[in-house]
Amino acid sequence: MSASKSSSVRLFNMACFIVMMVGLPFWVWYCLISVLHYDGSLVIPDAAFWSHIATPTLEALGFYLGWLLLQASLYHWLPGKPEQGQPLPDGSRLEYRLNGLRSFIISIGLWAALHFSGLLPGDYIYRNIEALVSTANIVVFAMCFYIYFLGRRQATAEERQFNFLEAFFVGAARNPRNGRFDWKFFCESRPGLTFWVIIGLSCAVHQYETHGVVTNAMWLICGLISLYIVDYYVNEDAILTTWDIIHEPFGWMLCWGSLIYVPFFYPLSAIWLANHPYELPGWGAAGILLLGVSGYVIFRQANIQKHRFRQGAGKKIWGKEPTFIQTAKGTKLLTSGWWGIASHANYLGDLMMALAMGLTVGFNTVFGYGYFLAFVVLLLHRDWRDNKHCVEKYGEDWKTYRKQVRWHIIPGIY
Ligand code: NDP
Repeated sequence: MSASKSSSVRLFNMACFIVMMVGLPFWVWYCLISVLHYDGSLVIPDAAFWSHIATPTLEALGFYLGWLLLQASLYHWLPGKPEQGQPLPDGSRLEYRLNGLRSFIISIGLWAALHFSGLLPGDYIYRNIEALVSTANIVVFAMCFYIYFLGRRQATAEERQFNFLEAFFVGAARNPRNGRFDWKFFCESRPGLTFWVIIGLSCAVHQYETHGVVTNAMWLICGLISLYIVDYYVNEDAILTTWDIIHEPFGWMLCWGSLIYVPFFYPLSAIWLANHPYELPGWGAAGILLLGVSGYVIFRQANIQKHRFRQGAGKKIWGKEPTFIQTAKGTKLLTSGWWGIASHANYLGDLMMALAMGLTVGFNTVFGYGYFLAFVVLLLHRDWRDNKHCVEKYGEDWKTYRKQVRWHIIPGIY
């Protein structure tokens, strides 16, 4: 690529970063306001619409900081299994403490104890979600500055080539750490994911207390979210072989995504259901359950097959010894199980689960499908980026893999 072309690509990227950092918080507000104040209709926002953006409050600040502190303390202090990450470019490995399931159980237990003791209503988060999202955005932006400065100190020579905007948005370093406190692992796997479950539960409590019922749609959405997150913690070690942990620097993109986008945008169907006690027909509920559980099985099997294979656990896949391509880079590319069917069948399973979550609102609001639709875009982009990464890293070996495994996500279609 010529110097002028590469600098114009860089400029274009930076313009995109700014648009995303300004636009995405407004996108989340837009969706929340539409669901909370306009029955989940698609509206063209005017001044009255935007006046619903809540101002941050001290109470929300106390609550959100308390939440982050609780999660950080649990992450740091709770005992857990130590596990080595994948080798870094310099050959070293970082150690991670896997105590996510314990931390999750304590957090949910605390939420239930506060609710049943009457100290804090179970639907507190739902009722204060607007002030919380405004406040959380400010806290997360501030955190990103801290992570930026920390990352700059820990960056490799290659990472120091990033200018301020690139380093702030994409990440100044791959694994910014204070001692053994790993900011990327913590933010990705703790406060946002557990909050997603608690927001779902908070919506269920609100539906019950306002409408006197918890509908089958609400049971389904809370069940599917919980399945996804509990599974995540049960298989926490598998996160260590995912793209984000291995390859991504940690900056605004991942931090804001994990702490705002996941907990405030992903549960839009539960948020809509909180005030719309929609009951699915029995066949509809059964179909959604089937779709969600099938997606879960594909997602889990695909991820665990690659993880065990890469960890060298020597496990059979679907009753047979795993087949693979030995690359010139030294790593092996699995060609059996789901990895012999599509290069990202794990994304297919994830998308099926997201669609099942969307379907819980029937066809009553497009915002119920927000997570699914945004996820399609995110995973298609990831697939494209990951393919590019593998082409560059593996060259001819990736071509050989591609000859054997033609499909990217949906066998026979894409
Ligand atoms: P993958 O877990 O699919 O990891 C991709 C990496 O695996 C590649 O970069 C490559 O790394 C390695 N790899 C590629 N092909 C093979 C092969 N045939 N055999 C062995 N290793 C291979 O990607 P993600 O981290 O993107 O996704 C992990 C899970 O997380 C998915 O299920 C995804 O859906 C989910 N996810 C969920 C999100 C959410 O918001 N809910 C967001 C993002 C992801 P290497 O260089 O080491 O070879």
